[in-house]
Amino acid sequence: MLVLASPSGAGKSSITRTLFGQDPNIGLSVSVTTRARRTDEVEGKHYYFVDLPTFHRMKDNDELLEWAQVHDNFYGTPRAKVEEQLSAGNDILFDIDYQGTLQLYEKCRKDMVTVFILPPSINELRARLERRAQDSAGTIEKRLRNARLEMDHYGEYDYVIVNEDLEDSTQKVRSILAAARLKRDRLSGMDSFVKDLQAQIDSL
Ligand code: 5GP
Repeated sequence: MLVLASPSGAGKSSITRTLFGQDPNIGLSVSVTTRARRTDEVEGKHYYFVDLPTFHRMKDNDELLEWAQVHDNFYGTPRAKVEEQLSAGNDILFDIDYQGTLQLYEKCRKDMVTVFILPPSINELRARLERRAQDSAGTIEKRLRNARLEMDHYGEYDYVIVNEDLEDSTQKVRSILAAARLKRDRLSGMDSFVKDLQAQIDSL
């Protein structure tokens, strides 16, 4: 489970999509949200857009692995898809906030790698939020103020990347993923592989 978190506008979603498009061995967890759909967003690709009663029903039925309220809206990770992907042996990428990350830590710390993405400067963060041009000025201001709060939590993550350049940051995340995939306790079948090598030495 690879978790990418950052203040809104730090470039996390771009990194997520670039990575997801290039690596066939990783699935993307598509969240449910009560936020209004932006014009360039596609149902089922960026989010599942649901109304508030549907969100609460999913939460109450334990259909969400984690959930949080972010910027006045609710967001959550549908449990079934994640469990299905993990039991098929696939990696899964989460674009969630620090509240969700903490909830996943409580459930599956051993199986997680977490990365916090920082913007290179606040001017750049504001420019990225404005370039997106999908949110009102008030919403952008709120997201900037929330960025400060979100940054308080960077110390809870395994890795930190300052996103100056999209391709360079994506490459860094790719390296983190490659290293995590090589962790000994993730390599199933390694015991028998090593025993087999030893048996071959014994029979020389
Ligand atoms: P946005 O509205 O810009 O798409 O997302 C706002 C924030 O909500 C981002 O920090 C994003 O990572 C977070 N977020 C999106 N989906 C989820 C989710 O399923 N759970 C949690 N905890 N946060 C989410």
